[in-house]
Amino acid sequence: MLRKRWLQQGGHWLKRAMPGYCAFCLAPALPGQGWCASCLKDLPWNRHACEQCGDPVTQGQSRCGHCLVEPPAFTCTQAGLLYQGAIKELLHDFKFQASPRAGILLYELMRMTSPALTGAALLAVPMYPSHARERGFNQSYWLAKQLGETLGTPLVKATRIKDSFSQRTLNRRERAANLAGAFRLEAEPPEHIVIIDDVVTTGATGHALASAALDAGAKRVDIWAVARTPLGKG
Ligand SMILES: [Zn+2]
Ligand SMILES: [Zn+2]
Repeated sequence: MLRKRWLQQGGHWLKRAMPGYCAFCLAPALPGQGWCASCLKDLPWNRHACEQCGDPVTQGQSRCGHCLVEPPAFTCTQAGLLYQGAIKELLHDFKFQASPRAGILLYELMRMTSPALTGAALLAVPMYPSHARERGFNQSYWLAKQLGETLGTPLVKATRIKDSFSQRTLNRRERAANLAGAFRLEAEPPEHIVIIDDVVTTGATGHALASAALDAGAKRVDIWAVARTPLGKG
């Protein structure tokens, strides 16, 4: 019971966590990892997901209804976890407090759930320049940089040329319209690139960025994120 409470309060405990101990419950961690076996098992895994957009689907279903009817510009999404509980806390600490410990844990979780194909180059989701200056930290770029160094995969860059107002209150279609033409690639990318993001919410950002990459000459674009917000819950 106590462990569950710690797990839900991941963010607070994280700040006290020490290397060698589980970030969630402070028990000894698995060798070389940031968590114990029990907390790892209790994380909100995205077990049955649409192979195209990563949204949870019924076991045995390969694609969700949205992707069957109106497929997005990207081919596959790998998001091993759901944006819930301890993962939501971790992502929040990482995004808004630039917590390096949260970043390392999220990077390790991404490595555990890496996609079958990691592409010829990685592409971080860019922030609009003034937002980047305000925040001083782009979590997608940080993850892409670490993954690129580990995998020996180069990064390609895109810029956000259109500011979009908050996406939070918009539905799926409105988000797509809001983001149309929002990105531009700085150079012609290789044929297969993988977008790196922290959380996939509706897939609208991935769709807009993948469209820009395809326009710039890529032949296939995938997405690799830490977590997916189940539609209708985020
Ligand atoms: Zn633990
Ligand atoms: Zn889908």
